[in-house]
Amino acid sequence: MLKSMTSAKRVRFRSNPRKDQFNNVLRQRVDAYFKDNNISPHANTEMYIKTVLSAVMWIACFSTVLSGILDGSPWLLIGLYTVWGFVNVFIAFNIMHDATHDAYSENPKINKIMGYSMDFIGGNQYLFRRMHGAHHGYVNIHGIDVTMESHGMFRFTPAEPWKPFHKYQHIYTFILYSLAMFHWVVAKDIKWMFGETHIGNQKNIQHPLKEKIILIIGKTWYFGTALALPLILTGAPWWAVAVGFVSMHILPGLYFALIFQVTHVYEGTTYPLPDDRGDIHNNYALHVLETTADFSRKSRFGSWLMGGINIHVIHHIFPRICHTHYPALTDILKETADEFGLEYQENERFIPALKKHYGMLKHLSKKDAHVPTIGKSAMYA
Ligand SMILES: [Zn+2]
Repeated sequence: MLKSMTSAKRVRFRSNPRKDQFNNVLRQRVDAYFKDNNISPHANTEMYIKTVLSAVMWIACFSTVLSGILDGSPWLLIGLYTVWGFVNVFIAFNIMHDATHDAYSENPKINKIMGYSMDFIGGNQYLFRRMHGAHHGYVNIHGIDVTMESHGMFRFTPAEPWKPFHKYQHIYTFILYSLAMFHWVVAKDIKWMFGETHIGNQKNIQHPLKEKIILIIGKTWYFGTALALPLILTGAPWWAVAVGFVSMHILPGLYFALIFQVTHVYEGTTYPLPDDRGDIHNNYALHVLETTADFSRKSRFGSWLMGGINIHVIHHIFPRICHTHYPALTDILKETADEFGLEYQENERFIPALKKHYGMLKHLSKKDAHVPTIGKSAMYA
């Protein structure tokens, strides 16, 4: 019932001047930050270094596998494949994510070119832009946010119909997270491009032929470089290459899924629902404050490694700003939220964030789980 209602309506944020005030002040201060410091909101030197480093690390992994020096050490080869998988996640977090948000450069063509890093590492830029976009605009809204959608396998929102096996979701979810990247690369993209015709609440989607061809080229490149060429050109045992290829996605996939999931599904989040006209009565920035939490913000190395995915609140409010600016902007966000009596949610480290994610999965494993639909922004009604 709820799902069909959400799907049938175009969901919109209906704010009011009191709620917009926070957003207006925040935007003015963020604009002033770039103006006063005379810097661009897009890539800076740190980002260019990351780009070069990504290419160097990828080439190092690929050429070492192909050189055959680990042909006689299958377990080292499998270890190297795992490192290669982490390099791919580094590229996804640090380059692809910014590029597909048009945050890398002010030039759309450069963003498009850098966005093909997604195809380079086994995904698909076109699908990512569409699906991640459906998540971005509608965080934690059941029926639209595609990251909440799992064909009933998980219960990430209280609006997801409860099934008896959800009782154990706080246990099996972590096992399935580790398979998520492998599934994404070998099946998910293909299924979404050639099978499904919906994304979130958008129906009857016809994907352009050009994008279908690009997907086939991208997958051929990925399976060719990571699987076929090592099988053909090296003397490594076939099983070591096959196990290596799978393990390239297991631990890196778990890392990828957890870093993302703890920022939205955690004890303390809210799950706003549209009314029967499809309206969410909030300002989007306030909605983000109540559905998103940062972690390890002050860890310079951690934030560098994760491409600022851990500094997620500011990313949702300003997705077109390159992640290298997030630490400074989050100080502005925190100060502004304090002034307005709003809560900026964060965990100092990853482990407390993980515990809250586990806690929410456990809570939602119960049929009668209740989670608020709005937080402190209710006082600006
Ligand atoms: Zn994003």
